[in-house]
Amino acid sequence: MSKHSLSQRSLNTKESQIREASRYCHKFGAINLAQGLPDFPAPEALKEAARDAIAQDHNQYADTWGLEALRVAIAAKMQRDNGISVDPDAQVTVCCGATEGLNIALMSLVDPGDRVLIFEPFYENYIPNLATVGGIAEFVTLQPPQWQISREQLEPIFQKGLKVVIINTPANPTGKVWTRAELQIIADLCQQYDVYVITDEIYEYILYEGEHVCMLSIEGMSDRTIVVNGFSKTFCVTGWRLGYTIACPELTAAMRRIHDFLTICAPAPLQYAALAALNFGRDYYHQMAADYKRKRDLLYPALQQMGLNPVLPRGAYYIWTDCSILAADANAAAYRLAKEAKVAAVPGNCFTNPSQTEVTGLRFCFAKQDSTLEAAVAQMQQVQIT
Ligand code: PMP
Repeated sequence: MSKHSLSQRSLNTKESQIREASRYCHKFGAINLAQGLPDFPAPEALKEAARDAIAQDHNQYADTWGLEALRVAIAAKMQRDNGISVDPDAQVTVCCGATEGLNIALMSLVDPGDRVLIFEPFYENYIPNLATVGGIAEFVTLQPPQWQISREQLEPIFQKGLKVVIINTPANPTGKVWTRAELQIIADLCQQYDVYVITDEIYEYILYEGEHVCMLSIEGMSDRTIVVNGFSKTFCVTGWRLGYTIACPELTAAMRRIHDFLTICAPAPLQYAALAALNFGRDYYHQMAADYKRKRDLLYPALQQMGLNPVLPRGAYYIWTDCSILAADANAAAYRLAKEAKVAAVPGNCFTNPSQTEVTGLRFCFAKQDSTLEAAVAQMQQVQIT
C-alpha cells in the first residue's frame, strides 16, 4: 500500500454500530429488532409498477433533477398534505434516498468549521455526514418522555454562531413529533441569528399522535429550509434508494450541482414506480399508520413489563428504552439481551454525542411482522433480570 495516509474524513468515520449489533444478532440467532428495515413485503401495486417500468425499458439515466412527472407529483403532495406550494422545476430534486438528500444538503450549506446543531438522541448518520463536510456538531440533549425544547435552552447555542440546525420529525430513535410551537421557536431563532434548517421528514406518514408540521410551512422559513424526504419508509422500499429534497430555487440549484456529479440520478425505473405510489389514496396511508400503531402497542407493554422504562413514540417505528436494569452501559445491555433473550436492539451510543460515556438507552425497531414481534416478546418475557 502507498505510504500516503488515508484521508482524515475516512479515518474519522467509524463503522456503524447497527451493523455490529446485526453481526452478533446473527451469531446468537437472535431476532433482529436492531436495524430499521421492515421484514414484510412492499405493496403489490408498487412492485408491479417497477416491473412494468423495466419491461418498458426505462433503464437509462433519468433527468438528473428527477423524472418530471414525479417532481410534479411530489409538488402536488406538498400542496395536498403540507399546504405548501412549490415549483416542481425549480424546487424539487429526486435523489438516491433521504441519505443522499441529507448529504447534498450538508454539502451545499456547510464549510469546514461551520457549526451545526443536532438534537440528541439523533439519527446516527448525522455525525458521519457532518464529518465528511468538516462541520462541527453542537449537541442539545433532549430529555424523555417529552423530549421538549425551550428557547432558553437553545439561545446560548445560537449566540455562539451556527450555520445549520438539523431537525428530524417524526424522529428516529425517540419517536418525538415536533410541535408547531417548537418549530416556531427554531424558526424565530433561525431568522434572528441567520441560520438554515435541514428537516428530515422521512417518517412523515408514520404518525400515531399529534400532527406533522413541515418547517417550510412556517412563515419566514421558505428561503432557509431544506426538506429531506423519501419513499423508503412510507412505501416499505428501503432498498430502492429513492428520496427527494425541497428548497427554494437558490438552495435547490446548489444541491442539484452536487447531486449531478455525485450520483447523476436516482434509479430511473423506480422513479416511475414511485409515481404510482404517490397515486395511492388516503386509505393506504391510514392503513399503514394503523398497522405500525398496532405493532408499537404489541412491543411497548412487553418492554414495560421487563422494567426497561420505554418511552411511547408518537411517530416513526422505534421505541427508546432505558437499559440500566440490564447492564451498566448500553453496549453491555444490548449484548446481554441478544445473548440471553435472543433479541437484538441497538445500543444508545449510536444516537448520542460520541463523547458521552454514560449512555443507558436502547432502541428497538418494530417495523416487523406481528409474528416476529410476538416471538421477540415471548423470548424477552423468559429472561430473568436480577
Ligand atoms: N433519516 C432517518 C431519520 C432515517 O431513520 C433513515 C433510515 N433509517 C434515513 C434518513 C435514510 O432514509 P433513506 O432510506 O431514504 O436513505
